[in-house]
Amino acid sequence: MPESAAEVYEKLRPYREKVKEFKKELEPGSDGRIVLGGRRLLFFGSEYALGDLYKEIRKIVGPPVDTLIYRVGIRGGLDAGNKMSKILEKMCTGGFDVAQTWCGGLGFYFGWGLIWIVEEKESEALIRVYNGWEAESYLDTIGKSDTPMCHFTRGFFAGAAGVLKFKSENVEGVETKCTTKGDPYCEFVVRVAKSK
Ligand SMILES: [Zn+2]
Repeated sequence: MPESAAEVYEKLRPYREKVKEFKKELEPGSDGRIVLGGRRLLFFGSEYALGDLYKEIRKIVGPPVDTLIYRVGIRGGLDAGNKMSKILEKMCTGGFDVAQTWCGGLGFYFGWGLIWIVEEKESEALIRVYNGWEAESYLDTIGKSDTPMCHFTRGFFAGAAGVLKFKSENVEGVETKCTTKGDPYCEFVVRVAKSK
């Protein structure tokens, strides 16, 4: 029986505690920028962050937009993985601890939802996201879907796992459950791809 969102929230408590000091980093500087890990952060509504972008590009490009968004996610995950792993390694005990602290700690304060790495094996990992922003954004702007729609997130996890776990850029992210199609959470498998 999968954990409820409330149970996952409790499980993630130690990871949130670990990154609490980062909350002050989210305060804008006198130049009006918020910078973390050498990257500028922006806060804006998720509907027009990707929801409306999806919707409008989908009208022009059609379904290939899913792959496009996935690839953007991979680049983001690789970049953020490189930046954040250096910061998190100082306060974590190693591989899984870094990954879960990033996902369940920083991810929480970034408003990505409750991210729980359910299982981690040598060749793949299983990640669940409760109240994921991308699925909610899709539901708000487009509506329900028959297939999983968190393409940026699955790409981001693949890119980040490539840096943090697999030491490879050839990692794929597959979403196996998604709240856009009525599942209680979004679920992702990341693994080294057989071919590029
Ligand atoms: Zn989803």
